[in-house]
Amino acid sequence: MSCCEECRCDGGIDFTKIPVTELYGSNCFSNAVMRERLPKNIYREVVAVQNGEKELSLEVADVVAASMREWAIARGASHFTHLFQPLTGLTAEKHDSFIAPAGDGKVLMEFSGRELIKGEPDASSFPSGGLRATFEARGYTAWDVTSPAFLKTDPTGTTLCIPTAFISYYGQALDKKVPLLKSIDALSKQAMRVLRALGNETSRRVFTTVGPEQEYFLVDREYYNKRPDLMLTGRTVFGALPAKGQEMEDHYFGAIKERVAAFMRELNTELWRVGIPAKTQHNEVAPNQFEIAPIYVNSSAAVDSNQFVMETIRNVARRHGMEGLLHEKPFAGVNGSGKHNNWSMATDDGINLFEPGENPESNARFLLFTAAVVEAVDRYALLIRSSVATSANDHRLGANEAPPAIVSIFFGGPLTEILDNIAEGKSSGKSSAGGEIKLGVTSLPNLPKDVSDRNRTSPFAFTGNKFEFRMVGSSQSIATPNTYLNVAVAQVLSEFADKLEKASSRNEAIQTIIKESYGKHRKVVFNGNGYTDEWVREAERRGLPNVKNAVDALSVLVRSETISLFETHKVLTKEEMESRYHIYLEKYSKQINIEAGVTIELARRYIFPASSSYAGALAGEAASLAAIGANNVPQAKQAKKISDILAELYDDVAKLETVLAEAQDIEDAQAQAKAYFEKVRPAMDCVRVKVDGLEKMIAKDSWPLPGYEELLFKL
Ligand code: ADP
Ligand code: MG
Repeated sequence: MSCCEECRCDGGIDFTKIPVTELYGSNCFSNAVMRERLPKNIYREVVAVQNGEKELSLEVADVVAASMREWAIARGASHFTHLFQPLTGLTAEKHDSFIAPAGDGKVLMEFSGRELIKGEPDASSFPSGGLRATFEARGYTAWDVTSPAFLKTDPTGTTLCIPTAFISYYGQALDKKVPLLKSIDALSKQAMRVLRALGNETSRRVFTTVGPEQEYFLVDREYYNKRPDLMLTGRTVFGALPAKGQEMEDHYFGAIKERVAAFMRELNTELWRVGIPAKTQHNEVAPNQFEIAPIYVNSSAAVDSNQFVMETIRNVARRHGMEGLLHEKPFAGVNGSGKHNNWSMATDDGINLFEPGENPESNARFLLFTAAVVEAVDRYALLIRSSVATSANDHRLGANEAPPAIVSIFFGGPLTEILDNIAEGKSSGKSSAGGEIKLGVTSLPNLPKDVSDRNRTSPFAFTGNKFEFRMVGSSQSIATPNTYLNVAVAQVLSEFADKLEKASSRNEAIQTIIKESYGKHRKVVFNGNGYTDEWVREAERRGLPNVKNAVDALSVLVRSETISLFETHKVLTKEEMESRYHIYLEKYSKQINIEAGVTIELARRYIFPASSSYAGALAGEAASLAAIGANNVPQAKQAKKISDILAELYDDVAKLETVLAEAQDIEDAQAQAKAYFEKVRPAMDCVRVKVDGLEKMIAKDSWPLPGYEELLFKL
């Protein structure tokens, strides 16, 4: 097999063999590349635009475009594309070639500043939630200077990819990037007010940093191709659990199988080439489940990188004869996949605002910003919950492996104690935070103790100098969760800033703000096990919301207080928010509609015939046996049992079909989504119970689908 066919190369080069330092970023038009290739004054202009200090002029764009074109063509690119994230949550791209006819039958390779900064995809088919009628379908993509351009290569060629934001002719946001960028600005503005009030005179801007940990499953393509449910919906709508599940916990952090290791090596290589700092990888809890985490970058670039990571997982898996499953819950009964969104705030001069330092108890900056997050998460818990509300994530949140649908924050003992002391007006004194754990074994060094311990069950955990938001679904774009988080924190910081700016004594004001804010909102802090029923009851006593399904969770988006929050910070208008709400509901309904359709199809055309033939064959055997005098044989009993379940299955499928047709007829988007949730999903579950029961009774080689043992254990 040539190395091209086998996988890891374009043009016969095996990139996994190239030293990482040479390879890293070789396909990324990064700031380092720009610094090297652009005239000094132009590079400075670009950085000023990245820092939000200036708008990009066409003259500057022309110079950058020329340099980008030269760089890309030298690396084999023939096309360029504006990448954008419409509200489908996927990445969209429209490819244009660089060629321009030269008039003499030849072509020139051209790429202007205008083409760099503005594209016009025919956007009429992307969901706009009524913002655009198709006759006025113009949509524009605009270069997002804060996320670097890169080259995407595949066996068929190389494309220059330019991350962009997507807006309508009238300037409305049609994507997930525009509000994210606006939310970063809003947060920066308010955080800078607080920093100035604290006496900081050096920082000019605050931005958010994000490092997403991505979970996924791998399955052998041979089995994947025989599962229409996986292919069409990303999850198995049927599947009986094998005798072994994840109970042995022998997969988590276990040795990585060779085939998977080869896949991971190539995945890393692909990511490194475009300058994505893929750092850690390991086996996850469920069989054939894995995780990859790159090092954090600014959140706009992190959003684009994560989209690319998801796409690359799937592409590279295919080259290795596997399929990468990004769905939140591909398999019932074993863990689903999430995406831990590690989020922090930093200044342009490198200060992490959540760095507790040596003495967190007297670190006003740390305490103020941390208190702001606590208040934001408590006040805007519903909004934060809604940012992860999808039909796929409904299978996860609240099931026993994922964080519950209740939003709470984990700090660990020492930090909680410090904050509690302030809230209760006790002198903070010296706490045990940041000290050293004495291991008491002389051969081991004393390990520095993190100010917070680990807690894997918290949906929002403070982990040292960042917060880890763990409710995000594995297939989701991280743009929306980060946007909502930024807006919520911006609002609280603006209120803190109002007080600080008016205060006569800064120190007193800081104390009072933290005391009042934390005192009122510490009910959202929970350091225990978030997966227990006890916590569900306790959270209810504390008055914390527990919204278990996406349809209810989404409704907060169109409340007047939510809309005014987004309008105050100029992140989304009422019209934009309402359209989004509509799109999310529709997406929810469509997803379940497809799953229900697949359920019916598989039950009727795969499961029923196979089970029926099998029962028929058993009955035939029983009849033959009766002819030689063997009566009441087990074959007859088994055939009868199967046939009884088939009768129930037959009825359940008919019921599902009826409720599905009713749901499809509902006009109102919210009522429709509710019907899918309340009627269609339970009807699908009924069908599943029968099918999974049959699977356990029918001979392996008579069952028409690969089972969980192949999907989960064979690689
Ligand atoms: P943990 O094991 O506690 O989850 P890691 O150090 O492995 O933490 O980091 C997990 C992710 O968090 C990585 O992507 C990492 O780059 C990211 N991360 C670390 N520091 C920050 C930060 N200041 N802001 C955003 N993400 C961060
Ligand atoms: Mg983690």
